[in-house]
Amino acid sequence: MMDESGKKCLPIEEDKKTGKPIWIDARELKLRYRIPISGVERFFEALKDGKLLATKCKRCGEKYFPPQACCPNCRSSDMEWIKVNGYGRLLTYTVVKVKPESYQKYPDYILGVARLDDGFNILAWILCEDFKRLRRGMRVKIDFKKKAGENYMSYFIVPVED
Ligand SMILES: [Zn+2]
Repeated sequence: MMDESGKKCLPIEEDKKTGKPIWIDARELKLRYRIPISGVERFFEALKDGKLLATKCKRCGEKYFPPQACCPNCRSSDMEWIKVNGYGRLLTYTVVKVKPESYQKYPDYILGVARLDDGFNILAWILCEDFKRLRRGMRVKIDFKKKAGENYMSYFIVPVED
């Protein structure tokens, strides 16, 4: 918003998508997620060793990936750990070219959802040289690697050669 001399007097700009006025605060927030993981810490320990764990409710039998410390279905906290086999089929994918702020440092990446043979759906980046090779229903597996610039193990969906 401009005053009579044409100087900007309020930090209001037009939103590029909607055309509506938007307040741009002077303070820049640096956001770092802090997520409590007590109860599912073992998942991250296993991930470090290239293994994927889920939880299963001992009371009602419901299985969860990502793992849950308590069962959302029957509210029991009597859970057991189960190993995920890591093979499945690709349900869908998308190539992300317009990235959120915190992913600007990465080249374009592929996000996918796979249905694992164990019955879990898993959302992850797909590691693939050429996304044109990807097909719905193709065999995939979960693989483990550190993302560039991140010093911890992550899991990825990788196509399996038939
Ligand atoms: Zn349950």
